[in-house]
Amino acid sequence: MSQDYHQMWSDLGLDLDAHDALLDVLSKAYGDIYLSQNHRPETMQYFDFVMSEVHGLRIKELLDEKEQGRKIIGSYCVFVPEEIVLAANATLIGLCSGADFATEEVEQFLPRNTCALIKSSFGFKLGKVCPYLESADLVVGENTCDGKKKAYETLNDLVKNLYVMDLPQVKSNQGRKLLKSEYYRFKTEVENLTGKTITTDALKKGIQIVNNKRKAIHRLSNLRRSNPSPISGLDALLTNQVFFYDNPERFTDSVNKICDELEQRIKQKIGVFPESTPRILLSGCPMAVPNWKLPWIIESSGAVIVGEESCVGERGVRNLTNDSVNTVDELMEAIIDRYFKIDCALFTPNPDRLNHIKEMVEAYTVDGVIHYGLQFCQPYIMESIPVEKVLEKNSIPILRVETDYSMEDVGQLKTRIEAFIEQLK
Ligand code: SF4
Ligand code: SF4
Repeated sequence: MSQDYHQMWSDLGLDLDAHDALLDVLSKAYGDIYLSQNHRPETMQYFDFVMSEVHGLRIKELLDEKEQGRKIIGSYCVFVPEEIVLAANATLIGLCSGADFATEEVEQFLPRNTCALIKSSFGFKLGKVCPYLESADLVVGENTCDGKKKAYETLNDLVKNLYVMDLPQVKSNQGRKLLKSEYYRFKTEVENLTGKTITTDALKKGIQIVNNKRKAIHRLSNLRRSNPSPISGLDALLTNQVFFYDNPERFTDSVNKICDELEQRIKQKIGVFPESTPRILLSGCPMAVPNWKLPWIIESSGAVIVGEESCVGERGVRNLTNDSVNTVDELMEAIIDRYFKIDCALFTPNPDRLNHIKEMVEAYTVDGVIHYGLQFCQPYIMESIPVEKVLEKNSIPILRVETDYSMEDVGQLKTRIEAFIEQLK
């Protein structure tokens, strides 16, 4: 990395030694897991470049835009509507929470038995290693699971400009009313932050930009229905992860370029693994960069991941927002309708998620499901039991995995996953 970036990181208040250590971990993991894959689409090179510049050029681009008056809003959850942020000419960035950092310091603020994702968001703050978090003009938390709710009370003392959005837990009329009032409150907050009043045209444009990103991912997902799969699950996961912090229009173009290449591969029957490779659906907690452990174990154990039932995956992108209405209030209603469909495990009851998993099994001709629960994540671990029951009732093999971000259990996980894959052959 050039010295210019060191000055930029220093200006952001990052701890340069800790930050260098994080970048080393990131680039080693990326090299070992991504660059060693076989038969990758050539168009994935753009994503390799994005990853190599994730704390470099992309941050510089955001800071340059910020100098021109464009605000940066950070978020930890797919319930934060990017459409509203774009309509006020701001940028929404997903804040990574996919690696352990500053664990000892984190455990002075959070109980040890907190999920790794929440601990990671604290670690990145306490370790002063995340340029996105330090650049953000507003950081949005959300009242989803109990862990996050209580953690934001503490994070409020550590992060300037933390804004907490309340979210419903039941899909009732009351629940929708709560979401509506919270999305209007958020719209006002964004307007105050940016000094811009959101107009119909701007909101429509914001919706179209985000819908185009989602449509590109839909196109990619459809191509993954082919056998042999033209792209690995690891590469598909990476595109879903980059969704959260790249420039949206550039991201859409890049994913469409991958799809153009994959269409050619499919015509020529070129796959990343042989046709007989067992096809896995990964379901459960979201996987933020650089949380590639489980997909890497699965794909280095003789299977291919063909879909992710996850917020960094199909749960996060499957629904589009209606842009065919003509007032700000009608567009806001369309946004509320779209987000109220997200079937996060925070909802009770949550039958839509079970149905969606079954639909995905059929659509992607899946041989087995691996349910990923982050250790201490009550919503998803609790829900893994009904998921298992429904799938077993439908004779679909399932393996429930509970893990965290450490590498200590890799050997044990590999043994279990290899045995599961063997049973699918
Ligand atoms: S799993 Fe739930 S809380 Fe987590 S990002 Fe998705 S919607 Fe948000
Ligand atoms: S992984 Fe589970 S416990 Fe952790 S933040 Fe998400 S929903 Fe909450």
